Amino acid sequence: MSKLYCRKQGLTLFPHFPNYVEVETIDLLIKDVHLEGQPTRVDVAIDEGHIVCIDQNLDVSAEQVIEGQGKFLSPGFVDAHTHLDKTYWSSDTQAHELHEAIAQYTAYCHQVTAEQFKESILERSAKVLDQALRAGTLIISSHVNLEHAQGLAGVEAMVEQKTRYQNRVDIHVTAMPNFFGSQEQIDRQFAWLEEACQKNYLQGIGGAPYHFENAAVLTRKLFDLASRYGLKIDLHVDERDDPNIDNLELIVDLTKEYGMGGRVICSHITALSAVDDSRAYKVMEGLHRENIHVITLPSCNLYLMGRKDKEPIRRGITRIKELSEQGVNLSYASDNIRDPFRPIGNANMLEEGLLTAQVSRMLSDQELHEVYRMGTFHPAQALGIKDYGVEIGSKADVILLEASHDVEALVNQAAVTHVVKNGKLLLTKECSTQFMDPC
Ligand SMILES: [Zn+2]
Repeated sequence: MSKLYCRKQGLTLFPHFPNYVEVETIDLLIKDVHLEGQPTRVDVAIDEGHIVCIDQNLDVSAEQVIEGQGKFLSPGFVDAHTHLDKTYWSSDTQAHELHEAIAQYTAYCHQVTAEQFKESILERSAKVLDQALRAGTLIISSHVNLEHAQGLAGVEAMVEQKTRYQNRVDIHVTAMPNFFGSQEQIDRQFAWLEEACQKNYLQGIGGAPYHFENAAVLTRKLFDLASRYGLKIDLHVDERDDPNIDNLELIVDLTKEYGMGGRVICSHITALSAVDDSRAYKVMEGLHRENIHVITLPSCNLYLMGRKDKEPIRRGITRIKELSEQGVNLSYASDNIRDPFRPIGNANMLEEGLLTAQVSRMLSDQELHEVYRMGTFHPAQALGIKDYGVEIGSKADVILLEASHDVEALVNQAAVTHVVKNGKLLLTKECSTQFMDPC
């Protein structure tokens, strides 16, 4: 049996460098798989949570072996925009548009104690996290409301959930202030944001300042805070039917002013489809120039937008194809799953991806390949994930799909047969109902 040269923790990544050690047994060997862009099937060796070797017919002993049988090995999906605090919460009456859904959730927050609120979030979000894991999602970023009635309780629950799920799904937490209310209440929202930053609860500063007359003041204050604490700024932007992208244009300017390129995410921007081409292309050029990430949430916006329209009904979808063609780092994500903002959803990124491809008419093989990347590599870049992918040195957070390449996985809605997290087999299709215990 040949020896495999393996990276050891904290040491350099490449086998021809020193600090590599010979190993006879690795943690996990995934045999006979297709990788993106590889013409032949390969074996993938995993040790100490990372991919350490990729080659044909690797001759090495492993603690555990997965027979890939020609399946597609992909990095896990990244769902970069969700609302885990609201998921699986429902009101007695169905909301018919965005503001109605917001009002229903706010009313609920006034009816429960902080303890009840936290318990409810932990229970409901666990349900969707488990669904997401079965569907191959290994990184989820969640906006969590700072409700006037609950303060930091929602964020604290999500931080607790992050710890509970640390070996299954990586959770990023973005606090979303609620600026509806008096000036005193708004000041209190900023005080809570500051406290959450000081306690290291957050990966991102959120909010939807475009709703408000003083949007410019609020947006600048949010940039100020994110900049001071070195956090991402991750905003809901111009989610409306009217041709008003004032907030998006301001964010492009503020990103430059604060030197925050690469650390700004704009979600929704549905109004981008309502403005004329010259204004749209000018701002898209700015998004690309300032390295601002965009997330489109078509499944939720198809439900929420154009509610006052008679036929033809506006679709509430941003300029997905044009943003992609302009070179903007564009991702798709789930947004709301089974709550007043969208009563359906399965936390399944392949499902969200196929819908995105359809509504944006990105259906050639090259475009479908790009859409697959909008659920994997692009959101990983937006969230600043290091060592993402399937190559030597990547973190071994990978999934096997019943397909031979990404386009087939998307079009066929391929089953996820194996989920590997931190280099350990966490779940197989056969044991997916009891995956809480390692297979
Ligand atoms: Zn959202």
